[in-house]
Amino acid sequence: MPSSNKSLVEDTENLEDGLSAREMINTGYGLTYNDFIILPGYIDFTPKEVDLSCRLTRKIALNTPLVSSPMDTVTESDMAIALALCGGIGIIHHNCLPEYQASEVAKVKKYKHGFIRDPIVLGPKNTVMDVLAIKEKHGFCGIPVTENGKVGGKLIGMVTSRDIDFLEGMHLKTTTLEEIMTRLEKLITAASNVTLNEANSILEKSKKGKLPIVNPDGNLVALIARTDLKKAKNYPFASKDNNKQLLVGAAIGTREEDRARLAHLVNAGIDVIVLDSSQGNSIYQIEMIKFIKNTYPDLQVVGGNVVTTKQAKSLIDVGVDALRVGMGSGSICITQEVMAVGRPQATAVYKVAQYANKFGIPVIADGGISSSGSITKALSLGASSVMMGSMLAGTTEAPGEYFYTEGVRLKKYRGMGSIEAMTRKDAVGSAMSRYYHTEGDQLKVAQGVSGCMADKGSVLTYVPYLITGIKHGCQDIGAKSLEQLRKMMYSGELRFELRSFSAQQEGSVHSLFSYEKRLF
Ligand code: GDP
Ligand code: 5GP
Repeated sequence: MPSSNKSLVEDTENLEDGLSAREMINTGYGLTYNDFIILPGYIDFTPKEVDLSCRLTRKIALNTPLVSSPMDTVTESDMAIALALCGGIGIIHHNCLPEYQASEVAKVKKYKHGFIRDPIVLGPKNTVMDVLAIKEKHGFCGIPVTENGKVGGKLIGMVTSRDIDFLEGMHLKTTTLEEIMTRLEKLITAASNVTLNEANSILEKSKKGKLPIVNPDGNLVALIARTDLKKAKNYPFASKDNNKQLLVGAAIGTREEDRARLAHLVNAGIDVIVLDSSQGNSIYQIEMIKFIKNTYPDLQVVGGNVVTTKQAKSLIDVGVDALRVGMGSGSICITQEVMAVGRPQATAVYKVAQYANKFGIPVIADGGISSSGSITKALSLGASSVMMGSMLAGTTEAPGEYFYTEGVRLKKYRGMGSIEAMTRKDAVGSAMSRYYHTEGDQLKVAQGVSGCMADKGSVLTYVPYLITGIKHGCQDIGAKSLEQLRKMMYSGELRFELRSFSAQQEGSVHSLFSYEKRLF
């Protein structure tokens, strides 16, 4: 056969296309998620069949590889509960007093689906005006009345819309709740071990809208609302511990006083602790890991942040259970601009995951996630899970109130290294330590900005959309599970391609005069 024909045969037999992850990352430049694309594989399963289970740490498994960032505009108990119900986990921020952080952890651990653990309660001397103010702010007016006006106080009555609808004008300010409430003798209550099914049938029989839950001493411990039971959904993938309580994490710094904070969090039932530092390869973090491993040997510890294999080695050597990867890739972050240090996120994730994988240490890709596509890209480069700030900011469950600017409903989202976050009144220096390296620093240098995000609705509908997006991505790739995805990547079967600037433009919406981007 003439030699030119022979090479033609070889060419048509060699179907290998694109680059392996290693070839792509080693091309020289640091890469971001936007710089590359994954080539499609072979499909012989449906997106529904894709298994997204993963490991968060050495010992903690999740059904969904999604983690919320420990930021004061992203994760408190509401976010952590919603994300755990969807199979992920929330990390409660530490820009607050230790007692407050621990109580947020406790709220997640005590959460029972359908039970309002922290209902708004009033006392007998409060007035009808107070109920109307609550209705205006929160939208409900079924309020338990206790002797001391707090949850945990003795239940003495209940006020509902039926008790106040007929009152008008002047009376509102002067009429106290003890005058108009439905008194305890007439109230239907239930004990704290009541199941949701039992609660449902009690409410159905009594035709009531609210069921106060009391302990044997008659103190109010929770409230059940019929409206919730009617729309109660099951969350079969929820992240739970052996006691069937939701999983939750919390962040701390690496200073001496963080040891006392940690004790509060352990008491509250924390499952995993995240050491929050923008440059994790430090003597402070290494000492902290050693302290935690000695004092609480069963507690899972996430170290970081790291972006190089050398940094990863330091923390793996002292026993971390997972690594958080990212420096300067966050949407609100100006570290690379101010400090000239960091690494493009795709390269950082690949390099650290490749090293940590040899020791069985999972990697959390933190920062720079802007779509379900970038989640799939992070996972395809070796990350076991992703941590998100901006993606979850602006949801109903993110801390903070909504406000309007030019007709758009917004919530605040800010970097923990922004001046605004570092000077928060109850910050007590803790979150500041992440970006404020030495005790002697006199002048704060911001490493983050403060901004806002448009309303995204509830995490309980947004996260299922993200999960579906990731599953479709895995289907296109031909990976039926995240484990298979990782195997395909390390074996070189998974193929990638770099994208030129114009390829990136082509890959996003273009050439339209105007358009509406509705995602689900
Ligand atoms: P109401 O009859 O005016 O109290 O309102 P609904 O029962 O129709 O709705 C109350 C909704 O608010 C339910 O989904 C509750 O879970 C929710 N909710 C959240 N926190 C509280 C709270 O502290 N008290 C009450 N009553 N409802 C709450
Ligand atoms: P995002 O998901 O918004 O792209 O990034 C969130 C991540 O950015 C956080 O998990 C955290 O690692 C990082 N981050 C949060 N606040 C700041 C900040 O003020 N400065 C820097 N450099 N990074 C931040």
